[in-house]
Amino acid sequence: MRHALSLSALVVLSAGTAIAGPVNVEDSDVEMMPVFGCFGDEHGHLSGGVHMMPMDEEVREFMEAFEIANQGVVDNRVDLVFVGDGYTAGEMAQYHADVDGIVNSLYQYEPFTSYQNYFRVTAVEVVSNESGVDNDPSQGVLRDTALDMRYWCNNIERLLCVSVSKAYTAAAAAPDIDQVIAIANSSKYGGAGYPSNNLGTAAGQNGAAADIAIHELGHSLGDLADEYTYGGPTTYTGPELGPVDVSIFDRAAQEANDRKWHYWMDANRVGFDGPIDTFEGGNYSQFGVYRPSNNSMMRALGRPFNLVSAEQLLKEIYREVDPIESGTATGSVIERGGSVEITPMQPLNQDLAVLWYLDDVVQTQLIGATEVSTDDLVLDGGSHELRVVVTDMTPWVRDEAMRAQFMTEERVYTIAGLPCPADLTGEGDLDFFDIGAFLTYYEAEDSRADFNDDGLFDFFDIAGFLSAYSAGCP
Ligand SMILES: [Zn+2]
Repeated sequence: MRHALSLSALVVLSAGTAIAGPVNVEDSDVEMMPVFGCFGDEHGHLSGGVHMMPMDEEVREFMEAFEIANQGVVDNRVDLVFVGDGYTAGEMAQYHADVDGIVNSLYQYEPFTSYQNYFRVTAVEVVSNESGVDNDPSQGVLRDTALDMRYWCNNIERLLCVSVSKAYTAAAAAPDIDQVIAIANSSKYGGAGYPSNNLGTAAGQNGAAADIAIHELGHSLGDLADEYTYGGPTTYTGPELGPVDVSIFDRAAQEANDRKWHYWMDANRVGFDGPIDTFEGGNYSQFGVYRPSNNSMMRALGRPFNLVSAEQLLKEIYREVDPIESGTATGSVIERGGSVEITPMQPLNQDLAVLWYLDDVVQTQLIGATEVSTDDLVLDGGSHELRVVVTDMTPWVRDEAMRAQFMTEERVYTIAGLPCPADLTGEGDLDFFDIGAFLTYYEAEDSRADFNDDGLFDFFDIAGFLSAYSAGCP
């Protein structure tokens, strides 16, 4: 067991530090990671920024081991795992009430409102010896708690830190971990976001802290940048920024070169901050950086996300959730008279699009169907390919490559051929009526006469039919 780093080992860079991956600080072999501390004033305007703190290597090792141990666990949900600190054995009811309060707040913001079915929330009960956390209400008040949560982290009153490795060890009681939220048994305003560890903290009984937790989820789930203008250089002069919701390019420059959110300009939808344009100021600077909307969740407390951020959040959600929840396994062979069924995921605001293709031809009569029998299809005696494609067509996504990669799933089935393909009347034997049926289908260019499935009606189909006819029925 490695010794925990003492607080004096923390290195604090300026709040204006650009969001970056872990960096190595000189004279230290400790890998550093960004921790967000974003807090609102009385008007809800956010300020604060990024603090560089030591990366807890044990967490990385732990997550790798956890993922290996949980391989094959297909849960098809974004797993939000809550762990509590400073709750004694007698305070578990309070803990669950606090978790419910934060989850209910989260589900009031799109896209979480409409996609709440895509999440699974697990509240792990962690018992602390003492009630409350360190430095609450003031510095120097210390308590014996399970996860070592503390205010005044990095000497900032509202920065609420946690032992990342202890939080993860506790979270491992959940069936899967995608995001961890550590909540303190406190009503004191505070929080923190650890995007490198998919971890956030919040005070359990402070409504504004719950809103902060949602903002932090924007950082840790969506890799979104802060869109406020305080804390960094007045004018940003560096290279283009990584996160999707900030750019050094104004509208004209984005549209001229298909950059960043160029395809969202002027979009404005209910539930989101809009319209989308380029507003100067963001990522802690007033000038030289643009944000997609005037006053989104990444800029102020209690505001909606903008569409640029929502699209990114949906991408991250769909990294964990496949559009088809369950159903007949892809690759299955379907006998005649049999059927296949699928259950698509179900956002609250719309159904996913379900399209069925028989030999690559869309079956318009089956749009939206979740169960299809071979009797619903016009089939000749040969084998056929049946394919179902499920897509989330939400207008909150405009990046079609992303939709195709993350928000579309297909399953492919083989429909078995009849043992007696020339028995076009399906009576189980071959006679004059089968010849008549073939000629009728052939004349009408019905696919049942297309014996070699090449889309043409020619000599080869006649030869195919005659050959199958002379082979007889078993
Ligand atoms: Zn922030």
